[in-house]
Amino acid sequence: MLFKDLGLSEALLKAISKKGYTQPSPIQEKAIPQVLKGRDVLASAQTGTGKTAGFTLPLLQNLGEPTSRRRPIRALVLTPTRELAAQVYDNVREYSEFMDIRSLVIFGGVNQNPQVRALKSGVDVLVATPGRLLDLESQGALRLDQVEILVLDEADRMLDMGFLRDIKRVLALMPKKRQNLLFSATFSKEIKQLAGSFLTDPILVEATPENTTAEKVDQLMYRIDTGVKPTVLIKMISEGDWSQVLVFTRTKHRANRLAEKLNKANVTAAAIHGNKSQGARTKALSGFKENKIRVLVATDIAARGLDIPLLPYVINYELPNVPEDYVHRIGRTGRAGASGQAISLVAGDEVSYVKGIEKLLKQRFDFEILEGFEPDPNAPTEKPKPQQRGRRNNNRTGGNNGGNRNSRSNNNREGNSRR
Ligand code: AMP
Repeated sequence: MLFKDLGLSEALLKAISKKGYTQPSPIQEKAIPQVLKGRDVLASAQTGTGKTAGFTLPLLQNLGEPTSRRRPIRALVLTPTRELAAQVYDNVREYSEFMDIRSLVIFGGVNQNPQVRALKSGVDVLVATPGRLLDLESQGALRLDQVEILVLDEADRMLDMGFLRDIKRVLALMPKKRQNLLFSATFSKEIKQLAGSFLTDPILVEATPENTTAEKVDQLMYRIDTGVKPTVLIKMISEGDWSQVLVFTRTKHRANRLAEKLNKANVTAAAIHGNKSQGARTKALSGFKENKIRVLVATDIAARGLDIPLLPYVINYELPNVPEDYVHRIGRTGRAGASGQAISLVAGDEVSYVKGIEKLLKQRFDFEILEGFEPDPNAPTEKPKPQQRGRRNNNRTGGNNGGNRNSRSNNNREGNSRR
């Protein structure tokens, strides 16, 4: 299948070929014709699937030329984070290069005046985070009463971040008759409810059957104690000579602490989380992309939607307590045909999280034990559950080779099949 078979205009095809894409990705193949038909779409797609072009290209085509000189906002893309908003906006700008379309991105944490000025001169496509959008709307700096197309990108994350009320407020500001596109990596009851509340007769499109992104990802779970995690991590990264490692913690505080520890051990690292200023986040991300920073330590919320293609390693320094977040995290590696490794450092009190992940993925994991870092069976903070599950394997691994591939047991052993 080629892009031109999807019914896209010459102007868009030109922009696509300038980007160097030769073929549409599966989500693009499925979503683009439906959006072009004017249908509401409910799409299951993670970052890395090409979802942004999947909604941006047909959205631009549906808008066509400006309908009035005032240029009211006719398309709104809502994203959970500033980073994602900036990335989507970059896409909108690139794909609309050969069209008469004005676009703008607005988000909080930066001076609003330039945004207000830009809005005054007329904007066809607005990309926004909910907070700043509502803020500027309430100040009369923008109106949403001419919106024809709405996109909710990473809707699941928006709900996780507590944006449901804001989303509802935004919905109420728009005309009832419009096209709606909802993109989400996971489909909880809440997402289905939200989708049901504003999508009209939506077409369901899926990038891949749920959770199969993990197919190309080697998943390893090391059962170790919390206290040795920093040492083990530093050892793995240094001895494996890894670069571009994305490390996840559950809290901002621990992201900071870990980044400090890594830097002290001469492993260049930066933390990226919600308390960091916009400038600091952008700087960390670009340093990481340019290989100036080896390790990016991130919280789940900060990492969502970051466009970091083809990461070789994702490390769960702490497992997420929400199983879906595990899927998001490991979705950052093994993209676009390249394989990646997702390594989890599992302390005793995190073993119960593994259960949730196994249930979600319909997959069983065996723990690896690192020689020299055997977990203390009598550790007071640990829950006694892991042994009862009878799945710890005592496969000894060389203490010297950290996360080296040879150190793992047959990771794809039984029970690894997916739905
Ligand atoms: P996304 O899932 O939208 O964040 O896109 C992930 C990455 O894939 C981005 O770097 C895009 O520029 C890239 N991409 C999107 N569509 C295609 C395509 N059809 N062919 C190759 N790369 C693409």
